[in-house]
Amino acid sequence: MSTATNKPYLISIGLEVHVQLNTQSKMFCSCPARYGDEPNTLTCPVCLGLPGAMPVLNLGAIKRTIRSGLMLGCETPPIVKWDRKSYFYPDMPKNYQITQFDLPLCEGGGVPLYDLAYPKEVQKNIPCPGKVIALTRIHLEEDVAKSTHHSAYSTIDFNRAGTPLMEIVSEPDITTPDEAFAYLNSLRQILVYAGVSDADMEKGQMRCDVNVSLRPEGQQELGSKVELKNLNSMSAVRRSLYYEIERQGEALDKQETIVQSTRRWDDAIGETRLMRTKEDAHDYRYLPDPDLLPLHTSDLVAEASQDLPELPHQKVARFEQDYGITHYDASVLASSQNLADYYEQAAAGASSAKKVANWVINNLLAVLNERAIQISDCPLSADKLRELVDLVEAGQVSNTQAKEVFALLLDAPDKSPAQIAKEKGFEPADSSEVAAFIDQAIAANPGPAGEVTDGNDKAINFLTGQVMKLSRGKANPKQVSEGIIARLRS
Ligand code: ZN
Ligand code: MN
Repeated sequence: MSTATNKPYLISIGLEVHVQLNTQSKMFCSCPARYGDEPNTLTCPVCLGLPGAMPVLNLGAIKRTIRSGLMLGCETPPIVKWDRKSYFYPDMPKNYQITQFDLPLCEGGGVPLYDLAYPKEVQKNIPCPGKVIALTRIHLEEDVAKSTHHSAYSTIDFNRAGTPLMEIVSEPDITTPDEAFAYLNSLRQILVYAGVSDADMEKGQMRCDVNVSLRPEGQQELGSKVELKNLNSMSAVRRSLYYEIERQGEALDKQETIVQSTRRWDDAIGETRLMRTKEDAHDYRYLPDPDLLPLHTSDLVAEASQDLPELPHQKVARFEQDYGITHYDASVLASSQNLADYYEQAAAGASSAKKVANWVINNLLAVLNERAIQISDCPLSADKLRELVDLVEAGQVSNTQAKEVFALLLDAPDKSPAQIAKEKGFEPADSSEVAAFIDQAIAANPGPAGEVTDGNDKAINFLTGQVMKLSRGKANPKQVSEGIIARLRS
């Protein structure tokens, strides 16, 4: 990693990611875990933190965490427990958070960095392809209430208080801002595949704190770490890290000491600002929560191992194998669960699963991008896309015509591809007509025709193009090429 500073430094980045789990109810009470309701309408004595209220474990949240851990290669200790983490915070009236300290639900494991999870401009030149970032642990805890600060006052909404949060802690194995970006993107992909969360950073479903430290080459122990807060998107994580690495490198160049501290990222200005130094560090005074019994996990782990969802890289391998598509195409299709499902539905029973993949990647994704719509809201059903590809494969419409049908289909979702092709008068030219066009093209282009006879394949393409023009795009290019070869080479 090169910075604008004079010396090379070793960079260590670790991420703590909080993920909202998609359970029906909160972590320790039966209030709904929902977002967007009237403030303070989803509360009870437990999640308000009233004295004496007794927490009850949410089994669904525990199962989701164990499943995530299994998909990330973690181990679950046979017994896990719940601890109180003490601190004063206005959005947590009981002054402690129920979390897990020394016996978390998951330990170890790792996040594989997928090629397509890197920022686009980096994908062609990934320094360590196939790198896996080791995880320290995953634990389960409760979220706090949400404060909103207005100019003269603050408001607080307890609907979020007590909702289940999974905290995923990485080892400081990440060495570049691009890797941090790929880590979050890959992790998100796996969690979505696990079905435990939508993990959308912009919606606050996935929140991330970043630790970064620099040290001179040759030094064993890590440098003082700086924690970055207020990172609301993957690109904010990446940009803040570029900034912070530069800042720390310049400080070290000037022999300044880096103080262990927490800094806030200002996305609009593009700078980090000091919030607090280690002197204000909290002593959390963890202690086992006497209201919650430790939990035996072996049955839960056995049950979760039974039906683990497919991982993104397993899906890629299966797509390559089953549909005969390239690794790159399979990776694009598997980059989102919804896109992968769409493709599989379209490819099922299609005359060419490979052609379906081409259509999804080259045509459909471009349109979705242009119109800024998600594949889940795609106006063209997977079945219709298959029908369209089948029409092309059967020689009913040419590729050019199919593109026209495709464009019309997007705005006429009730019609079928065949119907639109018929309305447009796209019928395959009959074979005697095509044969006549071939004769005409050969007669008009004796030079290229001779080259075809002499074995030049490029000349076939040229003549095919001429015939396609004569047929006004109606002829099937594959049949035309075959016809030309039959005429000139036999
Ligand atoms: Zn409640
Ligand atoms: Mn936490």
